[in-house]
Amino acid sequence: MQSESDVLIVGGGLVGASLACALGQAGLRVAVVEAFPFRVNQQPNYDERSIALAQGSQRIFSAMGLWDSLSDQVCPIHTIHVSDRGHFGFTRLQREQEGVAALGYVASARVLGNTLIAKLNQLAAVELLAPAQLLDFSVTADAVTAQLEADGRVLQHRTRLLVAADGVQSAVREKLAIATHQRDYGQTAIIANVTPGLPHRNVAYERFTDSGPLALLPMQENRCALVWTVHSEQADEIMTLEDSAFLARVQQRFGWRLGRFSKAGERHAYPLQLLRAEQSVHERLALIGNAVHTLHPIAGQGFNLGLRDVAALSEVVIDARRAGDDIGAPAVLARYADWRRADQRRVATFTDSLVRIFSQPFPPLAWARDAGMLALDLCPPAKRWFGRLTMGRAGRLPRLARGVEL
Ligand SMILES: Cc1cc2nc3c(=O)[nH]c(=O)nc-3n(C[C@H](O)[C@H](O)[C@H](O)COP(=O)(O)OP(=O)(O)OC[C@H]3O[C@@H](n4cnc5c(N)ncnc54)[C@H](O)[C@@H]3O)c2cc1C
Repeated sequence: MQSESDVLIVGGGLVGASLACALGQAGLRVAVVEAFPFRVNQQPNYDERSIALAQGSQRIFSAMGLWDSLSDQVCPIHTIHVSDRGHFGFTRLQREQEGVAALGYVASARVLGNTLIAKLNQLAAVELLAPAQLLDFSVTADAVTAQLEADGRVLQHRTRLLVAADGVQSAVREKLAIATHQRDYGQTAIIANVTPGLPHRNVAYERFTDSGPLALLPMQENRCALVWTVHSEQADEIMTLEDSAFLARVQQRFGWRLGRFSKAGERHAYPLQLLRAEQSVHERLALIGNAVHTLHPIAGQGFNLGLRDVAALSEVVIDARRAGDDIGAPAVLARYADWRRADQRRVATFTDSLVRIFSQPFPPLAWARDAGMLALDLCPPAKRWFGRLTMGRAGRLPRLARGVEL
């Protein structure tokens, strides 16, 4: 069997599905190959983890016509409060100072995924192949020929551009032997929803503790999404605690700023690693999302960064198509790679530096980082830089990230 597309996306996680939406709405013929079924609540990557969407990501979804479906299922963040447990340092970011309605929004990966699936199912230009696998591919001067396996049958698929959105273990990246920098953090993120005794007032808390950072993100109905990073060797014990003992541990780590925690939801654990690929493009091929950068969730930046990859790649591809150029040509892909390099490096370095700086128990270093946080809080230009980075507004923004349609 044979099929064809303008763009073949391998991986229908949040980033791959977002790209399929952006390109499909702009009229390109898109095929998505995803290992898991694309039915609501069946894709394991669309799980209960909460994603802090930066304000820039809200604009991207808005320009893609998805925000109306999402807006009543998310919780706005009005303040971000960062503190160092047991030390004096803290800093705050407030929506009034930034002149925005919200610094960001909290949505579950399930809500985001289901909204994307619903949209993809309406787009005639998008073909969803799931459950399906990429078996192999070869590149010639004017096309990529991919062998896919779907429903027990092997298909030959011809496309102008192959996009690897296949996550941290990207088989596409590995086949091309693209070099990576990787580090196992030896840490595991444990997530659960908890109910605080006091109103959260739309504050997102990031609290650094000696065993790792702990974030509490505001959710609807006065619940909070907990993302608690622990040393991996402690994770099994914490995962098996009774709810009351688990909540007592969280309370002891976070303190009483939100009153007494009650009702812990289901817990999930994610081992954490850093991955940065040295190249984000190859012949007729682009890498996006976790396939090119997998980050520690400490600052809630991984998906936001991937969505900016989507915004930039879809813009260069659509512009090439409108100009009558080959969308997989080296010059088009170089435009994408050059555009994304600085943002990808900046956010990966920022995130990794946070992990390193806040893992230091050595008192002079703890003092220096706390002084740094206070300086950040008191110095308007530094705070503006921090705000732009956190809200996903640093650097030259693609049209979608400015809220403009493709
Ligand atoms: C605990 C935690 C909290 C987080 N919080 C935030 C946050 O607050 N804000 C934020 O911005 N980010 C956050 N992130 C990061 C965010 O979840 C990821 O960056 C994002 O989900 C990556 O999406 P992706 O589509 O690139 O990759 P993935 O989700 O890994 O998707 C890859 C897809 O490819 C498919 N696939 C792989 N190989 C093949 C193949 N050969 N053939 C077919 N299909 C294939 C897989 O089935 C999968 O569906 C968090 C991460 C964690 C772990």
